[in-house]
Amino acid sequence: MSTLNQLTISGLSNLLLRREVSAREAMVSCLERVQQIDDKVHAFLSIDNEDALAQADVADQAIANGGMAELPLLGVPIAIKDVLAVRNQPLGCASNILAGYRSPFDATVIEKIKAAGAVVFGRLNMDEFAMGSSTENSAFVTTRNPWDLSRVPGGSSGGSAAAVAADECFASLGSDTGGSIRQPAALCGCVGLKPTYGRVSRYGLVAFASSLDQIGPFTKDIQDSALLLNAISGLDPRDSTSVPEPVPDYTKALDGNIKGLKLGLPKEYMIDGLDPEVKTAVQNAVAQLEKLGAEVVEISLPHTDYAAATYYIIAPAEASANLARFDGIRYGTRVDGSDPAELYSRTRGNGFGPEVKRRIILGTYVLSSGYYDAFYLRAQKVRTLIREDFLKAFQTVDAIVTPTTPTAAFKVGEKSADPLHMYLSDIFTISCNLAGICGVSLPCGFTKNPQLPIGLQLLGKPFGEETILKLAHAYEQVSPWRHQKPPLR
Ligand code: GLN
Repeated sequence: MSTLNQLTISGLSNLLLRREVSAREAMVSCLERVQQIDDKVHAFLSIDNEDALAQADVADQAIANGGMAELPLLGVPIAIKDVLAVRNQPLGCASNILAGYRSPFDATVIEKIKAAGAVVFGRLNMDEFAMGSSTENSAFVTTRNPWDLSRVPGGSSGGSAAAVAADECFASLGSDTGGSIRQPAALCGCVGLKPTYGRVSRYGLVAFASSLDQIGPFTKDIQDSALLLNAISGLDPRDSTSVPEPVPDYTKALDGNIKGLKLGLPKEYMIDGLDPEVKTAVQNAVAQLEKLGAEVVEISLPHTDYAAATYYIIAPAEASANLARFDGIRYGTRVDGSDPAELYSRTRGNGFGPEVKRRIILGTYVLSSGYYDAFYLRAQKVRTLIREDFLKAFQTVDAIVTPTTPTAAFKVGEKSADPLHMYLSDIFTISCNLAGICGVSLPCGFTKNPQLPIGLQLLGKPFGEETILKLAHAYEQVSPWRHQKPPLR
C-alpha cells in the first residue's frame, strides 16, 4: 500500500512537479486510507469517489500542460467540513434537517482552492451546525480521535482534524466560531488556523454566529497552513465583512527569524483546571521560542473570566436568528402539518438535535424584549472590553502564547451529559473570536499515558497572520512532534 497520503501538500507538490507521481495516485492513496481506517475513525460522512477521481484526472491533464507553475494546489486532495457549500455535493451540517440537500453552488473558499488546482473531495463530520466541542453532536456518527479511538477528536470540526491527523487527506477546511478549528487541531495533533475576522470570505459557509464565524485550514505543518491561507484569503463582494486588506504571500514570512519578537504570556490563562502535562509542554515550547530569540513577557487580559459567558450569549443569539431559515420550506427535509405553523414546528422539532434546540431556545431568550438589555446588550459591551484587552496587549507584544485547550482529548461520553462542562473546553479559544483576531494551534508535545497530542496556541493582531505563522514555523522546525503518527493500522 502506498504511503503517498502521509506527505504534506508541499511534499506532494514536489513529486507532482517532477512527475514522479500523478494526482490520480495521490487521490487513490487517500481513498485507500479512508477505506482502510474510516470505519474506525468516522471522519467522513460521505465521499463521491467518482467525482474525486475525475477531478484528479483533470489535474493530471493540467500538470501535463505545465500547470504546476501557476497553480499552487494543483492535484492536491483537500477534504471539506459539512458546513461549506460545494457544488453538486451534499451540504448537511451533520443535521437531519438538511438530509438530502445538495448545494447548487461553490462557497468562495471552494471556488478559490479549485481555481488553485485542488481536488476537492468528501464531506467531513462535525457537531450539528458547528455547535459543540467533541463531534458527539453530529446527528449521524461520533468521529473518533485517531490517537485513541475511545476519545473525542474535539469539535466542532472533529472530522476535519481527524482526517488530516490520520492522513486521509492532505489538508482540510473547517470553520471556527469559538475554537472549532484550533481545539480539534490541538486534540488530534495537527495545525489549525483561524484567520482574522474579515480575512476570508464566508460566502457559502452555513452561518452559525455571523459576528464570530471564520473559515480556516487544517494541515500537517505550518508551511501548508500558509499555502492554504494564501489561496483562501481576500476581499469578496459576496461577503460584506471581508476586507480589502492586501493578501501577502504568507509562505514568505516563514524564514525562521524570530529574534526580538515579543511574546505575551497572559497570567489569566494559568487556571486551576489546566492539566499539569499540558502546562509543562506549553512552558517548554515557550522556553524554545525564547531560545530562538523571542522575548517573553507576562501580560494581563483582565476580562478573560467573562469570555465564556459572553460567548454563550452572543453565539446562541445569532444562531437563533441564522437558523430561522431552516423551516422545511426551502431546504432539506419537511415534515407536513395541517397549517404552516404546524409544518414549521414539526420540521424543526424533528430535524434539529438537542444541542441545536438548546442554543435556539437560549438565543431567543436572551434576545426577547425585557431580557435583551440585561443579556444581549450587556454581552456586547463585555465583548468590547475583551477586544480592548487584546488591542492593548498588542501595543506591547507581537503575539500571545497560550495552551490551546486545558486538557488533552477526553473520552467519548465524558462530558456529553453536562453541557456547561463541555462549554469550558473552549475556554482558551473563545476570546480570539470575540476579539476578531487571528490564532493558530500547533502540536507542542504529548501526554504520557495514554499518549495524546497537546496544542500550543499563538494569537496575533488583526491581520497579523504573518507574525503568528512565522513564530509557529520557527518552533515547528526545532520540534519533533509533527513527525509522529497515530498508531492506527
Ligand atoms: N464549542 C463552541 C460551541 O459549541 C465553538 C464551536 C465553533 O467554534 N463552531 O459553540
